[in-house]
Amino acid sequence: MRILVVEDETKVASFIQRGLEAEHYTVDVASDGDTGLARALEGHHDLLILDLMLPGRDGAAVLRELRARRHTLPILLLTARATVVDKVRGLDLGADDYLTKPFSNDELQARVRACLRRASSSENGNESSGQPEILQSEDGYLYMNMVKRQVRAGDRDIRLTPTEFELLRQLMLYAGKVLTHRSLLRAVWGPEYGEEADYLRVYVRQLRLKVEKEPSNPRYIITEPGIGYVFRGNVVAQNV
Ligand code: CA
Repeated sequence: MRILVVEDETKVASFIQRGLEAEHYTVDVASDGDTGLARALEGHHDLLILDLMLPGRDGAAVLRELRARRHTLPILLLTARATVVDKVRGLDLGADDYLTKPFSNDELQARVRACLRRASSSENGNESSGQPEILQSEDGYLYMNMVKRQVRAGDRDIRLTPTEFELLRQLMLYAGKVLTHRSLLRAVWGPEYGEEADYLRVYVRQLRLKVEKEPSNPRYIITEPGIGYVFRGNVVAQNV
């Protein structure tokens, strides 16, 4: 596993690098946004750890650019600021997770493992876990193929980030059942999660924008206020 760290504070960058190298990850470090973006676009990395505050092109601009180019590289965003607005903004721009400075090595390792696990489970499909390879809404509109990692809404091919993909898969897999915030967070983000309902709000909004015909009046991904979310309607599961 190869991880790119984009962070201008050398102390923080070397703390992260030491921690990750001790876990046998290969680590590359870039200290400004332009270099970081160029390195990320080379496509050699399994994860990007990106600081929000960078000289030149900042973390938000790097994120925007990567996602605009449809890169699905998992991104863990770092910031010194802990406001909810920043957090939502970062997730909105396409980060998969968020870590507020200062953080411990244990927290860093847990987030890195969770990000990599999500990415690899969506990449490898679900052949090994015995779960369906194809999920399709009964009306035929929404289609997910886990093997090809393909999503279609009507006649459109939809590009989802690994986290969005896994969230949609969970919702479709348990269609008709209300999934609580906690159970969705644990299933999609990992067992370390459960309280981050704001992650879900952001990701559900993004998913609706990508897959719903009318995102503001969703037909499939329905909010159960105070409880969680449900995929409305039946889903047909099959194997290829
Ligand atoms: Ca910084």
